[in-house]
Amino acid sequence: MIEDTAAVLHGPRDVRIGAVARDAVRPGQVRVEIRGVGLCGSDLHYFADGRNGSNVVSQPTVLGHEGFGVITETGPGVPADRIGERVAIEPAAPCLRCPTCLAGRYNVCPHGTCLGSPPTHGLLRASAVLPAQFAHPLPDSVPDAVASLVEPLAVACWAVDRVSPLAGRRVLVTGAGPIGLATLQAALAEGAAEVVVSDVVESRLRAASDLGATVVVVAGEGDVEPVDVALECSGSAAALKTAANSLRPGGVLGLVGVHSGAEAVFPVQLLQRWELDVRGCFRYGPGAFRTAISWLARARVDLAPLVTARFPLAESARALELALADRSQLKVVIDGSKGNS
Ligand SMILES: [Zn+2]
Ligand SMILES: [Zn+2]
Repeated sequence: MIEDTAAVLHGPRDVRIGAVARDAVRPGQVRVEIRGVGLCGSDLHYFADGRNGSNVVSQPTVLGHEGFGVITETGPGVPADRIGERVAIEPAAPCLRCPTCLAGRYNVCPHGTCLGSPPTHGLLRASAVLPAQFAHPLPDSVPDAVASLVEPLAVACWAVDRVSPLAGRRVLVTGAGPIGLATLQAALAEGAAEVVVSDVVESRLRAASDLGATVVVVAGEGDVEPVDVALECSGSAAALKTAANSLRPGGVLGLVGVHSGAEAVFPVQLLQRWELDVRGCFRYGPGAFRTAISWLARARVDLAPLVTARFPLAESARALELALADRSQLKVVIDGSKGNS
């Protein structure tokens, strides 16, 4: 059996470098040698608690779903000339057969799996196998340094798509972590006239200012002037309330952050009285990766300031500890597993 070096989560705060069996490349699939992986809030939940919401780690699992790499093997039906291509990985694999998928809404397929969502192994390993159409070619103008951030940018691209149009609108983004900061930039790229950003962490608000926020607000301190569109990116119950209360009549709220707690209460009366629209934004739907890559390639967004630390795969446990403990960290990136396999 061929094995790949991997950072394996065995339980809460227990990540060890080990080996996992290499997946076989089936028809329509490619093998990608992983070159970089960004750590995400969901990885941190699994690392800290051995669970994320209702999904519990019940067997040793490799985390990581934000990554890029190089195609090293193609399965039957995939052109062999894709070998050597540098690609961003779209980690969620829908069934592509159910009525939801066939209606073009594959990101909410109830039958899909996602790399790095236990029990499916993720990207903190030497290679991963995925459907060829979810390995998105990266042009040379997207440098390795930010290529693992295509995935969170695709989340932002999808979110602004869900609440479009934004041209000329006044927008509120609650939460200035990597997703909030990417969403801020996506809203500006879509022509938003003003983007207000709120968070509780000062350094994150500074980053938002540097990236073009019109106004930054310390969450919980004072009111936000009314906005046309609010994008809730924090997952905090208080922020959800702020976002809902900040909308103008007829406004639109996009829910991007994960609200797993039962305490998230939405002021339902506002929905009816002011004809507000609430739209869930889950991962990335059709076209989001393509948009993200094209914006990065044409420098319409700048993700470099979001990367605040880099570690080799062998130091994944240290990287996860840092990301968990230090709230000034935005995106901690694990650099390529090249040479580790
Ligand atoms: Zn993520
Ligand atoms: Zn499906």
